[in-house]
Amino acid sequence: MNEDAPFDSVPKGNQIIDALRRPGATQLLSNARVVTLERAQHTTLLAQQMETVDFPVTALMSIVGSLDDGTTCELASVGTEAFVEIDAALRTLVAKRTATCLFGGEVVRVPLKDFQDELLRSPLFADLVYHAVRARVFTTEQIEICNARHTVTQRLARWLLLAGFRASRTEFPITHESLGAILGTRRASISEAIVTLEAREAISSKRTVVLIRNAERLREIACECYAVCRDAIEESRLREPFQLHVARTATGETGRGTEA
Ligand SMILES: [Zn+2]
Repeated sequence: MNEDAPFDSVPKGNQIIDALRRPGATQLLSNARVVTLERAQHTTLLAQQMETVDFPVTALMSIVGSLDDGTTCELASVGTEAFVEIDAALRTLVAKRTATCLFGGEVVRVPLKDFQDELLRSPLFADLVYHAVRARVFTTEQIEICNARHTVTQRLARWLLLAGFRASRTEFPITHESLGAILGTRRASISEAIVTLEAREAISSKRTVVLIRNAERLREIACECYAVCRDAIEESRLREPFQLHVARTATGETGRGTEA
């Protein structure tokens, strides 16, 4: 079979998949398929066995935590920089969180066994996956500080900027109620924050749509967490793991446990 064949059938867009686009670099896509997810569609469920791993191409995924009283809060967003769900990279077969599609679009879906086999087979793929996991852990920790210390307006600006960055979009089909659930705050607080952002002409909002009108203005309003999280994602993207892996192999260095 043509070694490039698996890539012919999957769209470009996911950073990990695209970094593997070289002959012989991966067997990951042998059984991959492109799936179009709709908003609110679950892909992994809390405490349920995982069958597949999804690499977002145009979809934006949301990892949501919930409490017994029904309170929910977004723990992480996952777009083109990574995959869902993170448990797949941690030698388990069961998801600890539910992953839900927030903005519909395409994902490249890979059987869990193929994902985990490729982690063992390919140091390049393992580098890409572990650096994505590192960025995911770091950004989740940063959002924890953000939720404790920054205002709803700052957090909303941060979330819109990061969601736009991850999904390459400036228009968000989302209600104030959904934004409240994502940020773990009351709908009324979201509406007040939106009024503030509209008054600064950073965004415009209708009942079910929020549009970034002036990203620079929005960045001025957002807390530092936007830049900090974006840098962490960029760092996981901009490295050249393939070249680094080749360099390490040439010098006899395995790279395991080292910072590349
Ligand atoms: Zn913050």
